[in-house]
Amino acid sequence: MKKKVAIIGSGPAALMLAANLDPEKFQVAIYEQNAAPARKFLVAGQGGFNLTHSEPLEQLRSRYFPSNFLDNALSVFSNEDLRIWLKNINIPTYVGSSKRVFPEKGIKPIEVLNTFLTTIHSRGVTLHTRWAWQGWNEKDDLIFNQEDLLQDIHTDIAVFSLGGGSWQVTGSNENWVKVFSEKGISTIPFQPSNCAAGIHWPEGLPGITEGQALKNIRVTTNGLSKDGELAITRFGLEGGAIYALAPSFRSSLNKKGFAELSLDLKPQLSIEEILSKISTRTSNHAISHRLREQVRLTEVQMTLLKNCTTKEEFVNPASIAAKIKNLTLRVNALAPTDEAISTVGGIDLTEVDSHFQLRKLPGAYCIGEMLDWDAPTGGYLLQACFSMGYYLAKHLNSLH
Ligand SMILES: Cc1cc2nc3c(=O)[nH]c(=O)nc-3n(C[C@H](O)[C@H](O)[C@H](O)COP(=O)(O)OP(=O)(O)OC[C@H]3O[C@@H](n4cnc5c(N)ncnc54)[C@H](O)[C@@H]3O)c2cc1C
Repeated sequence: MKKKVAIIGSGPAALMLAANLDPEKFQVAIYEQNAAPARKFLVAGQGGFNLTHSEPLEQLRSRYFPSNFLDNALSVFSNEDLRIWLKNINIPTYVGSSKRVFPEKGIKPIEVLNTFLTTIHSRGVTLHTRWAWQGWNEKDDLIFNQEDLLQDIHTDIAVFSLGGGSWQVTGSNENWVKVFSEKGISTIPFQPSNCAAGIHWPEGLPGITEGQALKNIRVTTNGLSKDGELAITRFGLEGGAIYALAPSFRSSLNKKGFAELSLDLKPQLSIEEILSKISTRTSNHAISHRLREQVRLTEVQMTLLKNCTTKEEFVNPASIAAKIKNLTLRVNALAPTDEAISTVGGIDLTEVDSHFQLRKLPGAYCIGEMLDWDAPTGGYLLQACFSMGYYLAKHLNSLH
């Protein structure tokens, strides 16, 4: 007799699991509360759609926090394995200049999703939409709300892949957290990750600069630096470098109520080089002209500097050079959880064993972003979800 597997949620972790469970051993059903599967996966597709990152495995491993939590899964299903696996189901990928991995040009996100769905259907997996999991009954069977009808489902194995707490419109909401807590499973409140940093701008500044890009700059906080491009918004700053430093901002905000970041607007020039370009001995032009022409500051950089320095500092070559290299801004918040690309929090990792099985509920597993881990954007989030799904499939295939 085949064992019954109920997978709750239909994001990338769930789909990868379903696509790799042995159809000879398992009767697999996915239960999704939305009318359609994998909505957050499609949202990810509207942006860069980084399926993974191509860097060497050792480096890839180091992107995850807590360190080691994904080691087993990555050693069974690495970034290279993912690319081969995708190619085998007819989703060829390419490595972009950023070393991130994308579906080959011309392949739309919906086509990637449909290929996953075709793969799981060909393996006999059934997908039930509009089934919202509510909790467990007294026999530990699963209770679903299926369009206002409560249904109890008995299953041999239950795998929860309910997602994190951001972009709730996609269905990845935190309603399930309470149900797990009530079951005595420790959960951690969701907090935003890979998100914008809130800056208390000088009055009027965002009005002039909103939406404009600060290109080729360096952001530093707590001794960590990231190079990249940032956008100025009314809320603060957003962009890859800020996302990557979100864990550090979060930690300072949690400890002190604020964080600090330093912008280096010209990482390719030393302070001495800037000084020599703007010193009056080499030019009779006004400082603004020298900053634009010699240091090649953009209009948005000029506006930022003017608004974040005193008049005296701005006209003094030594102090403006120092500000160009180290413009300190205070971070007073992270973006709201719902607007973040990902979240930390969810099921406490101590609640699952090395196979993602809930210690307090043998036969029940949790995978994907609903577990409390963190990683930057750039393909690492999806890689983790895919690796967990694949790893668990192989583990269950070997057990039964
Ligand atoms: C704007 C944006 C861009 C992104 N871009 C990238 C990117 O380029 N690269 C990358 O690696 N990552 C990216 N991500 C992150 C990535 O999409 C997520 O990490 C990933 O989708 C998480 O997968 P998951 O399987 O854990 O859960 P999810 O994809 O969140 O899916 C969980 C599913 O569970 C369902 N569900 C929840 N509760 C219930 C319930 N009670 N009953 C039944 N079903 C339920 C939900 O409806 C949902 O369909 C992006 C995210 C966002 C928001």
